[in-house]
Amino acid sequence: NPYEPFPNLSSFELGEWFYGQGPQKSLKDFKALIEVLTGPDFSLDDVRGTKWTRVFQDLGKNREEINPKRSNWVDDTGWKTTDIKIEVPIHNRMKYGKGVETHVAGQLFHRSIVSIVEEKIRNAQDSRLFHYDGHELLWKPDPKSTAEFRIMSELYHSDVFLNAQKEVNHSPPPEIKDCPLPRVVVGLMFWSDATHVSTFSTCKVWPLYMLFANESKYRRAKDGIDLCNHVAYFDALSDSFKDYVTGRTQGKLPRDLLTHLNREMAHVQWEAILDDELINAIVVGLKIKCLDGEWRRFFIRIFTYSTDYPERVLMATIKARGDCPCVLCLVKKKNLNQMGTTEDMIFRDQHPRIDDDARRKSVLESREIIRGGVAVGGDRVVACLSNSDVPTVNAFSSRLGHTGFNIFGCLVVDLLHEFEIGVFKALFIHLIRILDASAPGSTLIHELDKRYRRVPTFNRTIRKFSANASSLRRRAARDYEDLLQCSIAVFDGLLAEPLNGLVLKLLFLNARWHALAKLRMQNEATIILLEQATTQLGDLYRQFVKDTDRGPFPPQGAPQSTGSEEPGMLPADSTGEPADAPSANSRRGGRRVKKLNISTVKFHALGHYPKIIRHVGPTDLYSTEWGEYFHKSPKAWTKQTSRRYLRMELSRHERKRKRLRRIKDRILSGVTAKSQELREQQKASRDPNTHHFIGISKRVSVPLADFSQGGRFSSDPLSSGFTRSLKQHLLLRFIAKLVPDLAREDKSKELARFAAAQDWSRIVLKNDRVYSHQIMRIKYTTYDARRDEDIIHLDTAQCNIMLQDPTYSYRPKPNEPPGSPHPFRYCKVIAILHAEVGYMGEIGRIGPQFACLPLEFLWVRWYRFHPGTTNFSLDQVELLRPDERGSHSFIDPSEVLRACHIIPRYCKGMEQGEGQSFLAQDKSDWKKYYINRFVDRDMFMRYEWGLAVGHTYTR
Ligand SMILES: [Zn+2]
Repeated sequence: NPYEPFPNLSSFELGEWFYGQGPQKSLKDFKALIEVLTGPDFSLDDVRGTKWTRVFQDLGKNREEINPKRSNWVDDTGWKTTDIKIEVPIHNRMKYGKGVETHVAGQLFHRSIVSIVEEKIRNAQDSRLFHYDGHELLWKPDPKSTAEFRIMSELYHSDVFLNAQKEVNHSPPPEIKDCPLPRVVVGLMFWSDATHVSTFSTCKVWPLYMLFANESKYRRAKDGIDLCNHVAYFDALSDSFKDYVTGRTQGKLPRDLLTHLNREMAHVQWEAILDDELINAIVVGLKIKCLDGEWRRFFIRIFTYSTDYPERVLMATIKARGDCPCVLCLVKKKNLNQMGTTEDMIFRDQHPRIDDDARRKSVLESREIIRGGVAVGGDRVVACLSNSDVPTVNAFSSRLGHTGFNIFGCLVVDLLHEFEIGVFKALFIHLIRILDASAPGSTLIHELDKRYRRVPTFNRTIRKFSANASSLRRRAARDYEDLLQCSIAVFDGLLAEPLNGLVLKLLFLNARWHALAKLRMQNEATIILLEQATTQLGDLYRQFVKDTDRGPFPPQGAPQSTGSEEPGMLPADSTGEPADAPSANSRRGGRRVKKLNISTVKFHALGHYPKIIRHVGPTDLYSTEWGEYFHKSPKAWTKQTSRRYLRMELSRHERKRKRLRRIKDRILSGVTAKSQELREQQKASRDPNTHHFIGISKRVSVPLADFSQGGRFSSDPLSSGFTRSLKQHLLLRFIAKLVPDLAREDKSKELARFAAAQDWSRIVLKNDRVYSHQIMRIKYTTYDARRDEDIIHLDTAQCNIMLQDPTYSYRPKPNEPPGSPHPFRYCKVIAILHAEVGYMGEIGRIGPQFACLPLEFLWVRWYRFHPGTTNFSLDQVELLRPDERGSHSFIDPSEVLRACHIIPRYCKGMEQGEGQSFLAQDKSDWKKYYINRFVDRDMFMRYEWGLAVGHTYTR
């Protein structure tokens, strides 16, 4: 019975429906249920006898809990629990028992990592897309040249992976030197993050998630594919344990001791996870018979471990915000603000944090002193440790140290916490503080909020800024990303020069650094750009801090700031330690001066990005954003539990979900009519050759007569010459359609000559009308060679597009006339139209008939382009006035490159008057606009000419 523990298919489908959805059933779920019930294979008689309670219980049980006589369908090792015993230091001033006592502090729920690896390799669905070999990905931008670029996208393209592969193949341990089996590296990536199970709950879970580096990151967020493995639910010190400790220490639980016990707790749990089986699989590999019948030896390697800073220092066993606070290098606290200087970059390279014998020895010595009854924070303990080390044995070091593993190399950077809600958030708060102090009555802040509210939305990237941008309550990293991406147009002109210029440059560099650091596909060139941006960013931050050194004083006569910020204004760090607060405060002349503090670990961390990206791969591979994403499952499952035995119930849920999926895979692997149909549908919906989609509806039609004399729009300046220019445009398109040979890009001159010889007035539109549409979808290839789509929606702000300028050349040849200095042209779509077009002349004939072709076209208003004044400012555009020559025209939708995000330059104001043209809607024109190249990573890469794999370039 392939459906076990379900008795039959119908029961399985019903059970899957019940467990597959969220805790609250929605209409969508109800419809899914109807689909199950009306399916061709469904039988009500089958489900009548199913013992649901027992089936669901069995589904979540561990193997040993099920009577093997009754059933043996469970083929995975489920969860296990391990008691966690830690050493509790007893100070020698205590009455009795000085030294250490070992005591059970909690219980770990965990799974065997080796068993998860085996499950993965033996699973038919998963192993198909599991990369057995790491490889270099090379890009040859110019087919005529031999130059190749290394591309970084997946972890199995990275140096860490390739080095591990080299190592297992060329220098295996002696005991398997002669083993003939092919050797495969299995890369592991970890995430951990303690979280509240719901917004208003004090109840916490602390899961450890694991992904395989051998699987593509692009499959992670896909529905129905669950690549995330739950490895453990950590335990924290229990209340009864704390009671025991205070009972032994005369009621005291000093902060030092509590921190120490938390560290011990974490590392003893990790020791249980890093079991002997795993170490064996790391050293000599794991022999597994794969689905192709071949035996292979799999070597497990741990590549990354992503957490936020408090957990990162916990795993690194170093003091949080100590004198040597970085987990990656040995930088001193006083040098944190030197990020990006030559000396700083050299220092990082030469002083990486490494886990060596000296460190291990000093930790053991310090523990001996504690065993002698000295307090954890005692002078003698501290004296024998260096570089902010702590007296806890690091589980990774004690268990894996002899295999050459270095935990510090795995604790990668964290863009979300370090930049988005770290460095940039602190800057944003500081800028608001400056605005507040620069004008009385918060007028500048009101203006800022107003401008943010008016920023046009863009796809799913920029959402409406609904709440006041300046109030910072409950902001997620995503919100800060949006605030940054649109900040230049919003901040422009709020402050007086020279501060305004400095702020705009700083915002530009922040946005540029962020875009470069967040690219999903990197190459050597983009990493070099990131290195440059990092140095520039560091320098500019230091200059900004120096220039605003005296702090933002209220202007003369202005009411003094009361100093009582909104509660959300100062990011209250969860650890509550002061060094990372955004400002160092001092009093000067009786007034509080707030400075931007860049002596922070987060600021320092920015300097580590280029090297880590070069070594491990793009930041989205190991971003802590994934941790938040993975949290969705345990949070949803919690709602279906009683919360009394939360972790046990979660572990049962986890098994149920995974096993349901496995049963389903098993059923689907036999090709049923249903799965066949599903696959075909999926294929059809993803035609990569489509460029755009407009629709064929004829619901809204506009007679051409509306534009001629006496028509509806005859007084509008845009209607003069409408029919003529439309027909001239359509003539070219019509010929190109009928004579495909002339449609080639290099034949444009011949096409124009041919068209000029014809009579445009012979172009006819069927029924003398055009059909109008509201929406157009533009499909395009992104910089990282994937397909995406933009939506143009008339009557919204999302109606701007960009086209490639064919006259642009990156390196103009000396003997050619200069082309356009900018690669793109920008316009605003007035109308999305189609018509059925014929030509009353010889070329319009196909046989005895006149051809009638449906042609789509866009009517657009053009922008005039003004390049940015420096390398650190955005390009600007202005709309041509409707009565200017060439202000509007028709274009072929297939020429459209992408939609673009154009934000008004608010400080220049709007055009005066009521406007000239109803069709052009020019009464709502602004005088100037910014082109927002930072709106998404693909857009950003359009302006880094020649560096994106997915883009095509004219020259
Ligand atoms: Zn560092």
